[in-house]
Amino acid sequence: MSATPERIVTDSSPRLADSASQVSRDSASWIARDAATVWHPFTQHANWTDDRPVVVDRAEGPWLIDVDGRRHLDGVSSLWATTLGHGHPDINAAITAQLAKLDHSTFLGTTHTPGIELSEALITLAPKGDGPELTKVFYAGDGSSAVEAALKIAYQYSTQTGHPRPKIVRLDHAYHGDTLGAVSVGGHTLFHDAYKPLLLDTIGISSPGDRALGDDRNAIAITELQSVMRRTGDQVCAIIVEPMIQGAAGMLDYQASFLRAARELADTYGALLIFDEVATGFGRTGKMWAADHAGIVPDLLTCGKGITGGYLPLSAVLAAEHVYEAFLTRPGDPTPRTFFHGHTYTANPLCCAAALANLRVMGEQDVIGQAARLGERLTKLLEPVGAKKNVVEIRQLGTMVGVEIAPVRDRTGFAVCQAARERGVWLRPLGDTVVLMPPLTLGDDETDLLVGALTEAIDEVAA
Ligand code: PLP
Repeated sequence: MSATPERIVTDSSPRLADSASQVSRDSASWIARDAATVWHPFTQHANWTDDRPVVVDRAEGPWLIDVDGRRHLDGVSSLWATTLGHGHPDINAAITAQLAKLDHSTFLGTTHTPGIELSEALITLAPKGDGPELTKVFYAGDGSSAVEAALKIAYQYSTQTGHPRPKIVRLDHAYHGDTLGAVSVGGHTLFHDAYKPLLLDTIGISSPGDRALGDDRNAIAITELQSVMRRTGDQVCAIIVEPMIQGAAGMLDYQASFLRAARELADTYGALLIFDEVATGFGRTGKMWAADHAGIVPDLLTCGKGITGGYLPLSAVLAAEHVYEAFLTRPGDPTPRTFFHGHTYTANPLCCAAALANLRVMGEQDVIGQAARLGERLTKLLEPVGAKKNVVEIRQLGTMVGVEIAPVRDRTGFAVCQAARERGVWLRPLGDTVVLMPPLTLGDDETDLLVGALTEAIDEVAA
């Protein structure tokens, strides 16, 4: 399989650079202007211009097109979000139609039809199985703000149903976002240690996906969770996990039995179970929710990213009825039980319209089935990659893939991504784990290109 992207065409502008390692004058000028005024997320600006960032001009399907007209296969769905690829006509049309009717109206004290319809659709799609029925939707903006809302709901729930429980149980290596509550329940040392003095009271336990714990990792994590809950369960308002796979930890997949144990322990000790499905939701793992792999339902489920097909910022917390009911003021209550939380753009109608169109397309075009087939195809194509000497491990659940590369130099993962970029594929690593998280609807040719470019890039960096 050649990774030469024959489908990658560039326009005939004389400003074009010859290869991705060169930047045209046009591109260079945008990068210089960017460096003068922009501060990018998760970015070390000391290297920024040397790393020659892609200056994205437009996008079509799975392709990003830069200001030089060069096409890059978007191998990580623009940070795990664009589940249907870019520029889907149905989502574009839904946003445009909504724009003509209502651009924005607050959700504090008024409501609107796309917000109501989307809640109905999400509740219909919510995971079913062991656990409570999820019956209510609380909207937020980004994944982090959904996590933030879920944590506050869990703490306030404890104060309104028994006694204040200030502790939250979290997994090592977890990532739940970058606002302070979300950082508090993260366990990724690089992202979280710097903010330690500012964080909430949490108890970290081993991750069932942590390879450093060996083959017993699942049992180790369950035993630790049992012992933490036995010791301090009455102080714990919530157990929060990314179900089945910890994405930003480097795609650490784990067994469903851990989720079953977490459900049982949360019930036994009166804590809420939170599943963070911001990365895993909306078909990413080959099922609608990662929870569906286990048949376990949490008390609170956070989702974001793919909810709008990755078009506009929207996230949500799906809540069980018993949680919602604890927030209803009763006669004689000294203070209202209201959840005092919300944002200016909560449930923005354009975002809700995009999400409704996305869910419609997902249903009509069996996008979950497509995702499951894409996952299988990736597994097959990646088999020889996993056999390479310099590949430590390939971890995967559906279309979430992490290819861990043995370090051979500084920023090995980044070097592999740069080499893939030369072959027309844009990727972003997590340390030395190269992530593949393409649109769920990626075609066979593009999938071949994705894996072919990665294969050649790994070989190039090893050499
Ligand atoms: N939770 C999980 C599991 C995530 O993977 C992410 C982002 O990658 C977040 C929360 C934060 O989402 P956002 O970046 O939209 O704030």
